[in-house]
Amino acid sequence: MTLFERKRGPFYDPWEAAPEDARRRASRRRLADYVRWARRIPFYRDRLAGFDPRSDFPLSRVPPLRSSDLRALLPPRSSRLLSSKTAGLNVFQSGGTTGFPKTALFTHAELDALDLPNARGFYAVGLRPSDRVCNLFAAGSLYMTFIHINRMLQHYGCANFPLSNHAAPEFIHMVARLFKANCIAGIASVAINALRGMERIGLKGIRIEKLYYGGEHLYEADKAEIRGKFGTEVIAAPGYGTIDSWYIGYQCGRTPTGVFHCHDDQCHLEIVDEETGAPCGPAAAGMAYATTFPRRLTPIVRYRVGDRARWVGSPCPCGRTTPLFELLGRGDDVLRIGFDSIGYDHVQECVAKVKGLSGSVQMRKERGGGVDRLVVAVETDAPKTARGRLREALARAIVAQRPTLAKAIADGSVRPVGVELLRPGALPRNPRTGKLVRVVDAR
Ligand SMILES: [Zn+2]
Repeated sequence: MTLFERKRGPFYDPWEAAPEDARRRASRRRLADYVRWARRIPFYRDRLAGFDPRSDFPLSRVPPLRSSDLRALLPPRSSRLLSSKTAGLNVFQSGGTTGFPKTALFTHAELDALDLPNARGFYAVGLRPSDRVCNLFAAGSLYMTFIHINRMLQHYGCANFPLSNHAAPEFIHMVARLFKANCIAGIASVAINALRGMERIGLKGIRIEKLYYGGEHLYEADKAEIRGKFGTEVIAAPGYGTIDSWYIGYQCGRTPTGVFHCHDDQCHLEIVDEETGAPCGPAAAGMAYATTFPRRLTPIVRYRVGDRARWVGSPCPCGRTTPLFELLGRGDDVLRIGFDSIGYDHVQECVAKVKGLSGSVQMRKERGGGVDRLVVAVETDAPKTARGRLREALARAIVAQRPTLAKAIADGSVRPVGVELLRPGALPRNPRTGKLVRVVDAR
């Protein structure tokens, strides 16, 4: 039986449409079981003393687990978070690209268990076994995504083209043309680079109907470009999660950019106001904390995922009852310019308003003579003659909605916003994953 055939009902599985009271009961039971398991490990024994199964927010008195905690608690530095010292396992690298590796450990069974949320997400955004999929996710160097997406495609029943993030656009172009691949799945900036490279070679005989991305946001400016140039009908993120946690969310055919259904049978997601420590109500932005039920080798309780999010607070028109949240970008994707805090999302919104600019954008903080400057670098294939106008339009759009920044520029305490326009592919990317380097504090 393929992963696709394992689906039950109109959605991938009945949990997605479970009524509210059944959902609440099951979630509470799963959380209590998981906390009991985690307390076997000495590290968690006292730490989880504040767990209150009767509270509406049972973990609110438990300290969050931070990225730096994982580095200290996991091999190669320590085995303090391991529930078993002898289990067969996979060692993956998480984040930090320099120096001492930070790891994430999955037993083989845990790696297999990713199939459920993975298949659920891909099903919800329209993947079918008849699809022919180029897998451009990150492979090698202890990266996880390529191998589990590869496994999912095999078991789902699709035609699978395991290209990875290392394949050159020329080669992807040839494969897509010769084998009529109709889908691309990959890290957002790798996928869009591949598409742009293919467009330069020529699109005769190539039709990419579905683009499934992950790892980072694909912004509206990028989506508009892809729809316009390739006629791509589906552009969606089948899964949102991190290697330190688990799959946390998935999109469906009705979710707008950045909005996800929560896999709330897989994890207990909290959105927390870190100023007060209180849980956020609908629409209020906070930090995402995840407690991940399938992670048994290294229990992960209240992990600070590092992304800001908010609960949407209303049901999805698709009919799924798994709750919706909106991802608001990395918590650290913010630059302090003078007295203003400029978020990467704000810059992206402004870029999307200027026709002719792509969504490949880096924002940078420079400082000279004690004065800050925001510099925004954007890739574009616009002709030279149009560039002066584009630069002005973007600088104007960024300042227009930011009175604090505008005032600081007017009184000389912050230098005017700089805009650099670069050819496609010119912005720096992480050499191993291909992810765009989005925010640079160049002080
Ligand atoms: Zn939905």
